[in-house]
Amino acid sequence: MLSYLHAFHAGNFADVHKHAALVLAIRMMQTKASAIACFDTHAGSASYDLMGEKALKTGDAASGIHKVWSYRTQLHGDDWQVMLDEFARGEGSNGYLASYPGSPRWLYRYLRKQDSLTAFELHPAEGETLDRWSADHAPVRVVKDDGLKGLLRHLPPKQPRLLVLTDPSYEVKSDYEEVAQTLKRAWQKCRHGVYLIWYPILAGRPDEKLKQAIRSGPVRKVLCSEIARRQLPERGMSGSGMLVVNPPWGFDDRLAGMMEAMADDQCLAITPTMDWLVPE
Ligand code: SAM
Repeated sequence: MLSYLHAFHAGNFADVHKHAALVLAIRMMQTKASAIACFDTHAGSASYDLMGEKALKTGDAASGIHKVWSYRTQLHGDDWQVMLDEFARGEGSNGYLASYPGSPRWLYRYLRKQDSLTAFELHPAEGETLDRWSADHAPVRVVKDDGLKGLLRHLPPKQPRLLVLTDPSYEVKSDYEEVAQTLKRAWQKCRHGVYLIWYPILAGRPDEKLKQAIRSGPVRKVLCSEIARRQLPERGMSGSGMLVVNPPWGFDDRLAGMMEAMADDQCLAITPTMDWLVPE
């Protein structure tokens, strides 16, 4: 039984990290004209109300996107500008952000006519909301099913290139191993794909299971971007991590630059790191 609802956490510091990496990856891939098959294995509901009861209950966005938004004049360059332009669409009349885009919306924003987007969502209510959103956002295809198994059924894609975002809620501890297993099998079906895997950094470091399984497997060229919060919360995430398999050339420096820009205490107060989990 799935209980996680992203509406409680949308726009937190980890979403900003994940979506910055996602948008940078698709933009860099699109410097070539060849078609990209995009898959969002854990899509959520596409758009989130930052002024709703759920978001206000946790206040997660207050230490995430709201901090970034109030710091926006300090965020320079094209890589930040495209993110800020999209955030701005959720700006309310009071200057605060009232809504926040989820991963299918970010991917949809960059979809060209030659690209495709398949979004999986297993939670029944989230799947319904996503379905309703996709009705006005052709050609997005929603599959209300398990995203890890579903991805494997769709690979290799008919398009020449592949971009996958895997962003589970890690409600079940075995998710870490299942994600690593799925990556291995997906990579065996499509070795040149760009795979982005998000994970939380929590006490006890359960993400080590994911990393160790990938380190000891066949997948090569895995970049690891992490951001660690300098002011540790009483509970919950102390950081956010993103693995990127086959990142476009120069992606590491550009994402590092974006994370450094948010490092200040006035913004997210984070310490970013960038390293290869598995080199070429
Ligand atoms: N990717 C979204 C974004 O960035 O806006 C947020 C996704 S949220 C962290 C994880 C989502 O995965 C939840 O909506 C949850 O219902 C869904 N989910 C959990 N297990 C799943 C599975 N096996 N297959 C597909 N979706 C799943």
